[in-house]
Amino acid sequence: MSRVKGVYVLVISVGTDTRIDVGALGNVDFQRGLYAYVGSAQNSLERRIDRHLRRAKRKLWHIDYLLDSDSVKVVRLFHKNAVKLDECKIAEKISLEGVPINGFGSSDCKCRSHLFQITDYQFLREFMCELALGNDGRVFHD
Ligand SMILES: [Zn+2]
Repeated sequence: MSRVKGVYVLVISVGTDTRIDVGALGNVDFQRGLYAYVGSAQNSLERRIDRHLRRAKRKLWHIDYLLDSDSVKVVRLFHKNAVKLDECKIAEKISLEGVPINGFGSSDCKCRSHLFQITDYQFLREFMCELALGNDGRVFHD
């Protein structure tokens, strides 16, 4: 899928209540728990995802700051071949159940956020199914 353009959802585990300096967004308090982050890569989805999973990197996006924290890790990944517009539709749908982290990942669109704290993981899984967002088989454990 190296040339695939698409939309992805990272399921992120925050292992402990923590305050993280999220670059331009400033300090954000995260509660221990699961989060879903919606993004898109219109060049190479695979390269983008590999980038998210690498720790040492120059921080460009809010998500880079979050994933750099020791207590934070990606636990699951969903992706779909889709256009950028779908990214915001997915974020909007997740916002119906998730708690938005205001302004996170949505600097260049009108969404309130592209990162949500998820209390009902079953909802997220069903929603990913409904959207036909595939799980690429990579499951990340600690
Ligand atoms: Zn958006």
